[in-house]
Amino acid sequence: MYSKSGRLEIARKIADGTHDLNVIPLTALMHGYIKFGELQLARDVFDSVSDKDVVLWTAMIVGYAQHGLDHDALTLFCIMFLEGIEPNDYTIACLLSVCASSGVLDYGKQLHAHVLRNDIRLTISVSNALVTMYARCGSLIAAEYVFKHAGVHDAVSYTSMIMAKAQHGLGNEAIELFDEMMEQRKKPDHITYIGVLAACSHAGLVDLGWHHFQMMHKKHAIEPQMSHYACMIDPFGRAGLLKEADEFIRSMPVEPDVVVRGALLSACRIHNNVDLARRAAEKLLAIEPENSGAYAVIANVYASYGEWQEAAEIRKIMKDRGVKKEPGCCWIQIKKKVHVFGVQDSFHPLREQIYAMVSKLCCQVRELGYQPDTSSVLHDLEEELKEQLLSHHSEKLAVAFELISTADGSTLRIMKNLRVCNDCHAWFKFVSRLVQREIVLRDANRFHHFKNGLCSCKDYW
Ligand code: ZN
Ligand code: ZN
Repeated sequence: MYSKSGRLEIARKIADGTHDLNVIPLTALMHGYIKFGELQLARDVFDSVSDKDVVLWTAMIVGYAQHGLDHDALTLFCIMFLEGIEPNDYTIACLLSVCASSGVLDYGKQLHAHVLRNDIRLTISVSNALVTMYARCGSLIAAEYVFKHAGVHDAVSYTSMIMAKAQHGLGNEAIELFDEMMEQRKKPDHITYIGVLAACSHAGLVDLGWHHFQMMHKKHAIEPQMSHYACMIDPFGRAGLLKEADEFIRSMPVEPDVVVRGALLSACRIHNNVDLARRAAEKLLAIEPENSGAYAVIANVYASYGEWQEAAEIRKIMKDRGVKKEPGCCWIQIKKKVHVFGVQDSFHPLREQIYAMVSKLCCQVRELGYQPDTSSVLHDLEEELKEQLLSHHSEKLAVAFELISTADGSTLRIMKNLRVCNDCHAWFKFVSRLVQREIVLRDANRFHHFKNGLCSCKDYW
């Protein structure tokens, strides 16, 4: 492989069109640029090759995807398609994982249709990628359909489906599938166990979670990692056993990381345990002083007790330390177009109809018993202002827009970058009952399926 200065020198020659390399070193060079995250240089090399085969196209698409440039990956695929290059199973599997991470179901469905129409080999990796894509885009039924009709299941297929069920709150079904996997003698790995432990957590099965946590080491020689410890905090938290969760953390043989501390902090938030929350937040901020989520949770706990001065203090510390809160946003896909909403968004061309729809929904759900939960508003404001702030959260705007733009009865799907707040969660439950439609929300942590006034997370998230 070339050194950095060597790569830059060749990049200059490629830009000038003065290089004398053939396709093999060019491919190696492109891989090198991708590996070091120099995507533009990789693209220059890619563009300089005149006879590009599907392998080269796929390598560039995979490069974009590996570096989180989902949009570039999809765009390049469209160009490849227009140039008449047929994708192979590897290209398709990669693109499906791009659709999964950005939650664009329509594109994913089109890829699936393309596979079926063009007789692309439905390898086990393509069908696993399809399962994950459908599950991550909120369509668990389609994921199950693909899984059932896949014919052969390897350990990865089982793991994908167990993860899918766990993320969608179907804890018992995920455990049943794990039992089937054991009967089929497929070897679980540490990801399978994340699914199993998360499933136990979502189904409130503390003892079974504990049993599997021990078995993963005893029976399958899998050393527990941080994410497994974090999964164990949730069942304790869900059962209200905060002291046990705290003790579990203290008994860990390794120093707990941000995820584990964060799980305990979330449990404290849900049960409003201010003392433990304060200690958990201090520990968390000692490891990661710029973790804006931790400040938000602890300020939330104070605010819910009406301790405005402490909440203000936390905001001041955040400001002094230069911690920036990640702005909340939601995105939805309607007729192949992705719409993004921020808090109090005023850029959307249909903003007037959207805000009118939100107000109308707020009035109607109040009649069904919805009460705004202003405890998460971190400012000491007039109640009315707080309610207005809440009603303009990005997910409410997204739902309003989806209701305006889609047919009656269809499922509403929303993706969100942060955890959904208490108020939006309660509001969504009422709206699902009011409009008699299922709402699937993917937040930073998991999926919520709102149907007939209830949520699949059973109000623990
Ligand atoms: Zn909200
Ligand atoms: Zn929920």
